[in-house]
Amino acid sequence: MRVSSVSLHGISNAHPSPSTANPSGLSYLPSHESSAWDMYLQQIDRVAPFLGDLSLWVETLRRPKRALVVDVPIHMDDGRIAHFEGFRVQHNTSRGPGKGGVRFHQDVTLSEVMALSAWMSVKNAALNLPFGGAKGGVRVDPRLLSDGELERVTRRYTSEIGIIIGPHNDIPAPDVNTNARVMAWMMDTYSVNQGSTSTGVVTGKPIAIGGSLGRREATGRGVFVVATEAAKKLGLAIANARIAIQGFGNVGSVAAELFAQADAHIVAVQDHKGTVYNPAGINAKALIAHVERHGGVFGFKDAQSIDKDAFWDVPCDILVPAALETQITSLNAQRIQARLIVEGANGPTTPQADDILAERNILVVPDVIANAGGVTVSYFEWVQDFSSFFWNEEEINARLTQTMQAAFASIWQVAKDKQVSLRTAAFIVGCTRILQARALRGLYP
Ligand code: GLU
Repeated sequence: MRVSSVSLHGISNAHPSPSTANPSGLSYLPSHESSAWDMYLQQIDRVAPFLGDLSLWVETLRRPKRALVVDVPIHMDDGRIAHFEGFRVQHNTSRGPGKGGVRFHQDVTLSEVMALSAWMSVKNAALNLPFGGAKGGVRVDPRLLSDGELERVTRRYTSEIGIIIGPHNDIPAPDVNTNARVMAWMMDTYSVNQGSTSTGVVTGKPIAIGGSLGRREATGRGVFVVATEAAKKLGLAIANARIAIQGFGNVGSVAAELFAQADAHIVAVQDHKGTVYNPAGINAKALIAHVERHGGVFGFKDAQSIDKDAFWDVPCDILVPAALETQITSLNAQRIQARLIVEGANGPTTPQADDILAERNILVVPDVIANAGGVTVSYFEWVQDFSSFFWNEEEINARLTQTMQAAFASIWQVAKDKQVSLRTAAFIVGCTRILQARALRGLYP
């Protein structure tokens, strides 16, 4: 066998690659609006004045506790050896073990994973889950890998980050382009290395090996639950509401089905393959079946295909960005028609876009609340794994709905009391909890 050593992707620096720096592909976005980490730092600047005495500790939030960069070499099917770059960042563990997903994407960088891990800290604290925040990623396009190559990337990456993850240390889960199958390989690899089966090391596993009922749908379900709560505040009925969704993966597709069940009209869907539009409403189930067959929404026959950029002009009532970061920016925020934006993705809206949307009176339910359904059911899964007693789906969905409604109500109240956006309110609640824990634990030595 001929074996040569190649690098499929260059080592990335701390800055995003050109494709993430200019996600719209239209015109130049300044770096403070295109880097997820810079966005996060600006969000911390906005919450800092509300932290009172705890602001003594605020610098904690501006630095990840621990960041690991790993080389992930694998045998490719054609005999080459390929090297991929992997990351695991534990942003904060003051309130409990690190918790957050792992994404496989060709644009992943260390600074992006830092931002995603920090948003997990805020999210877990805002939901009052007993976790810190962490995130991982591998800079790879999984669509270019065979099943065997994908398994080898997953297993080698897991083994490399095995020195910092664990059921009491840091618990990965699915994120962009990862799923239950990838979690099964991660759980197995970690367990084989440890010498005993450790179901609680990852969440989002298949049900047969300690996964939780309802986990796959949890993020999309949570989006639907908070959208319903926010719509009530606006006097907007979900029935007949027009919904536009960016991203039709695990989050966007499940949310679409739930909106459709509630008699809303899915008028536009965009994914990496195309943008489809039908003002009379798209059948969510039919679109899901189309995506399963064709790998994307492009070519769906019961809708018209529109230009990528025209997605932002679509007449709609609720917009659900459920893809990647920095999608709603100063370049398109002025054009959005929705009354309500519910962030299924992490970090889809830049602070500059937040200001424009606030001025236009468009309500934004921020990611750290809107997409927290996934990690909430991850928490239920972790608890079930430790107690070795599994709940039924009805119970899980009821607890999820209750948790999301309560979190939304308390954030809404803080926003009203302090006269701030829902994002700043969620950050006030989350960051206060993190820094209270930090201050109580004190510095060592
Ligand atoms: N990746 C999801 C998120 O961004 C879920 C994380 C988890 O379940 O740990 O919230």
